[in-house]
Amino acid sequence: VDHMLTYPVKPDLFDWSTNDGFPNLYVKNKSVVEFVDIGNTYIAYVFARCGYGGLLTTLSPLFPTKLILGMEIRPKVQEYVLQRILALRAQNKNKEFTEPGSFQNISVMRMNAMKFLPNFFEKGQLEKMFFLFPDPHFKKKKHKARIITPQLVAEYAYILKPGGIIYTVTDVRDLHDWMVKHLDAHPLFERLTDEEMDADPCVNAACNGTEESMKVERNGGTKFRMCYRRLNAAKFS
Ligand code: SAM
Repeated sequence: VDHMLTYPVKPDLFDWSTNDGFPNLYVKNKSVVEFVDIGNTYIAYVFARCGYGGLLTTLSPLFPTKLILGMEIRPKVQEYVLQRILALRAQNKNKEFTEPGSFQNISVMRMNAMKFLPNFFEKGQLEKMFFLFPDPHFKKKKHKARIITPQLVAEYAYILKPGGIIYTVTDVRDLHDWMVKHLDAHPLFERLTDEEMDADPCVNAACNGTEESMKVERNGGTKFRMCYRRLNAAKFS
């Protein structure tokens, strides 16, 4: 337990089949979480807007058999997002569990994603990680609190499978430059080309399907995107 956060000593000790996990889709040793969204909707929580669901509900029908997990540090945000997911499941309980729109494949846990990812995910387990509109931590002294740092990028390389993708989007130019600098510097990540990003439906969801992305849109802001592929072998040595 860390500041009231509970986490397993190692990934296979965690039970994903509870009601606030994936009770109808999780099968031990068969299905695992493959997509992770770090830091979830908060505007939805603040304004209790309906109709938008953030990235999790946008991705859910696109990948109905993939387990997609949000990790959010603030208890009230996590609780709000979880209640929305449980309500969506209840409204659609007549659907097959793997049918698009059943919302059985998304969940959210309260977690500090900067601390415990390897406690939850095995080496090479994840296919996609989303870092969408992360907190900018503008002051130089606070840069180490950013969700992309050299140490954390190494951790992300560990839990992503070769071919797996990191998605970053922000409206803060300085943060974009920072994320690109640190991901470029890691030998196990390479940028996706613009054509590859344009062809990936997750990029559209990441740029336009989150609460923060819609706020930026309303305010006429600019969105900076960059995606990285986890390589099989180091690009330089
Ligand atoms: N991705 C969402 C979107 O695009 O609408 C939310 C963006 S919001 C600006 C950033 C979120 O990340 C907040 O809800 C914050 O509580 C969460 N967060 C910040 N640090 C975190 C951490 N270490 N682990 C998990 N969540 C974190």
